[in-house]
Amino acid sequence: MSDVFHRPRDWAIRPERRLFEVTWDDGNVTEYGWEDMRRACPCAFCSGEGSYKGMVNADTKFNETQITLKEVHPVGRYGLTPVWGDDHDTGIYTFKMLRRAAGLE
Ligand SMILES: [Zn+2]
Repeated sequence: MSDVFHRPRDWAIRPERRLFEVTWDDGNVTEYGWEDMRRACPCAFCSGEGSYKGMVNADTKFNETQITLKEVHPVGRYGLTPVWGDDHDTGIYTFKMLRRAAGLE
């Protein structure tokens, strides 16, 4: 564990491999499969909030459009928001969460 706050230096959508790739300021490069990334969407609709369980779990079947990553936008200085093929864009993936998912934190 580290208390240094790392940010991406760059990121890229790789349609040919259906991956999202992040290059971090410490030189690490991490990759996220689109489907796994969509399944991990942290927005209230997908992952739930309070007593509401959310629409997405380990058994959720996605269609091709839902797991096609169209764009990624920065959110403040702490995260990224992907825009999916079905225009779902409410999930904020913090840098911390992305690094943890890749085993870096
Ligand atoms: Zn979501």
